[in-house]
Amino acid sequence: MTLAVTGGSLDGQVVGLRATDGVIEALGPDVEADPGDDVLDAKGLLICPPMVNGHTHAAMTLFRGFGDDMALMEWLRTRIWPAEAKLEPDDVYWGTRLACVEMIRSGTTKFADMYWHGAEVAPAVRDSGVRAIVSSVIIDELDPAKGEKLKPQVVEVLDRLAEAGPRVQPSLGPHAIYTVSADTLRWLAEIAAEREIPLQIHLSETEKEVEDCLEAHGKRPAGYLDELGVIGPRTVLAHGVWLDRHELDLIAERGATVVANPAANMKLAVGGVLPYPQAAAAGAALGLGTDGVSSNSNLDMFEEVKLFALSQKYASRDPSTLPAAEALAVARGLRSPVLAGNRLAVGEPADFLLLRGSDPELSAGDPDADLVYAAGGSVVDTTVVAGEVLMRNRDVADAEEIVAEVRARARRLTGL
Ligand SMILES: [Zn+2]
Repeated sequence: MTLAVTGGSLDGQVVGLRATDGVIEALGPDVEADPGDDVLDAKGLLICPPMVNGHTHAAMTLFRGFGDDMALMEWLRTRIWPAEAKLEPDDVYWGTRLACVEMIRSGTTKFADMYWHGAEVAPAVRDSGVRAIVSSVIIDELDPAKGEKLKPQVVEVLDRLAEAGPRVQPSLGPHAIYTVSADTLRWLAEIAAEREIPLQIHLSETEKEVEDCLEAHGKRPAGYLDELGVIGPRTVLAHGVWLDRHELDLIAERGATVVANPAANMKLAVGGVLPYPQAAAAGAALGLGTDGVSSNSNLDMFEEVKLFALSQKYASRDPSTLPAAEALAVARGLRSPVLAGNRLAVGEPADFLLLRGSDPELSAGDPDADLVYAAGGSVVDTTVVAGEVLMRNRDVADAEEIVAEVRARARRLTGL
């Protein structure tokens, strides 16, 4: 199947794009549609690479607006954990479907996910047409005996994810160092290495996590994880707010990716953001994520990239910190080997967006600055993954049915 995009705008030039079997095979001013191609008329639209959401819990769309403005532990204990205890596998399927609709509408074509019933995330990703690095969250409450019992289930979920098709990348999702024992983390690192798959974990989100780690293990969180073999080139470390210079050097040396989650950090008032200037100076691989909807409260990477850039300027008291083009590169997954975003070039996956160039936010000025500081996800007109059109004219298939399903399920889970 060949998809041809005609009359689109790229770097101020009118261009065409042809994609065959999911890959860009031609791009430029002379590229036109051939007879028999599926044609997308992109007149007035800007062709642009998609966003990659580096850390989320997609199915938490079920808990949007449930317990906002609360302290983290109180919120988890009184709202999220009791509601999650009622979660059925089907809830996770539908919650993820809704997250995918939201991501497609705001220009994200790939996400890294960690959630309960991870095996149910895979069919939701497949049915939505996006790409995802999927993991089922692993928590043994620091009890290695419990961890031991989880092992067959962890392997079974990985095997199921491995059969979920080319758009699902199986991975492991130990929750954090304060919820998973050292023995289980060491075993998970071995499995990740054996299968050459990504491992996702929360790291240094709060200052308390660092203090507790120092007290329990005599080292800071990154050093502790490294000792267990967890930090490698396929490791995704979410948050990283309290990482110090030595930890960032270690993470850079290992090739692991740190994912910033500025909206969640500010909403939960953790007291800081990822130290981007130090992370960049250390040469660490970087990504950007929304975290779950329950702590954000949306999945719009255009909004997140603005918060990323602004929070870094604010924290460093320097407006030249994290310029727009670099913030965009991070948000597109281009600064991480494991998130592996794609560029617009021949031979790359045919994942791209068509943006409404005539929208007020994009009507004048530097294109990168407009995308970061002015635009929201609503400027996205068309979303394409592997040459397949998932949204055209802001219309995503089955969106109404998915919203209705999630609304009913959210009501059952939260009572709201
Ligand atoms: Zn998270």
